[in-house]
Amino acid sequence: MNRRSLLSAPLILAAPSVWAAPVRKLAPKPKPKPKLIALDPGHGGHDPGALGYRGTREKGVVLSVARDLARELQAGGRYRVMLTRTGDSYVPLRERVARAQQANADLFLSIHADSHPDRDVRGASVYTLSEEATDREAAALAARENQSDPMVAPSSTVARALIAMSQRGTVNDSCKFANSIVSTFGRSGILLLPRSHREAGFAVLTSPDIPAALVELGYLSNPRDEKLLTVRQHQVALARALRASMDAYYAPRAVPRA
Ligand SMILES: [Zn+2]
Repeated sequence: MNRRSLLSAPLILAAPSVWAAPVRKLAPKPKPKPKLIALDPGHGGHDPGALGYRGTREKGVVLSVARDLARELQAGGRYRVMLTRTGDSYVPLRERVARAQQANADLFLSIHADSHPDRDVRGASVYTLSEEATDREAAALAARENQSDPMVAPSSTVARALIAMSQRGTVNDSCKFANSIVSTFGRSGILLLPRSHREAGFAVLTSPDIPAALVELGYLSNPRDEKLLTVRQHQVALARALRASMDAYYAPRAVPRA
């Protein structure tokens, strides 16, 4: 080895030792357990739900959006999904609640589309459970949806569920979820009814441990809403907005600066 190479040797040797210095490994962040989302497409089988101006049936539209939403949710690996019905079958409301509870779902979303005697009424709305309905329309809607299950005794079921839900914080979480759907729909350009988050005694929202909301995607009695609700692109847009609302619901809250 000549002098020149001797001088340069430490430099050459130093470099690998710097690079090879043991890097203190950061402990890998524990991966959050995927949340189990219960999707509840309304009606089914002999119960078609609301009927459209041109004959569109609610049960088909809501199953289609629920399937799109299931795909959206499963794609990211952040969520697991269960559907309370997977085909055109009739499932009583109590059974839907029971299926979500048995599966230990983390969140419950019932998916519907409404109809109104006034054909001009259009837009989406979101509901959470309450003994007292926000207004007569919300009460009438809950009564219509509860008709899907003649065995349901809404007033006692709702009262009992609300006591358990308020003890466990489920009421607040349900409202937070409903509000995140309303704001995501607003940002996504999906038309909403005025006072978009309402409350009423929906029998399907009575799981004491599972934050739950019911979304009415629009009015099948309105020709424009009916058309939109049957367009695949719009169904997918609705599913994406609903997935975004779940992302927002589970997003860690910003810590306010002192
Ligand atoms: Zn319905």
